[in-house]
Amino acid sequence: MHEFSLMAGVLDAVNDTAREHGARQVLVISLVIGEMAEVVPEALEFAFEALSADTISAGAQLMITFVHPRSRCTACGNEFEHDRFHWFCSNCGSLATELLAGRELYLQSIEVEDDPESKLSHVY
Ligand SMILES: [Zn+2]
Repeated sequence: MHEFSLMAGVLDAVNDTAREHGARQVLVISLVIGEMAEVVPEALEFAFEALSADTISAGAQLMITFVHPRSRCTACGNEFEHDRFHWFCSNCGSLATELLAGRELYLQSIEVEDDPESKLSHVY
């Protein structure tokens, strides 16, 4: 369950950013996750619920954007998208490929509420 440690890191960053900006409540947390990062979305949601309780992020909506793996063939230079299991070159069939994208996991943005009276929100 590495989702728990991932989410703990994400929440630290989210809560710090929100506090820095004087936010009262985090509304939306947007994450970008590569399909090859071996992250199970349900486990991530579960970790989020458990870890965000009693923080400024409790009740926020978790938005996850998945990134397709993309590789470059070191034999012919072809760049191509693929799934988690088939990463040979789509042009020449070589297995000598390097992964360009698909293993990332980062916080893209958060939306917070500054003032509960006016429902003013900001995206950081
Ligand atoms: Zn190739």
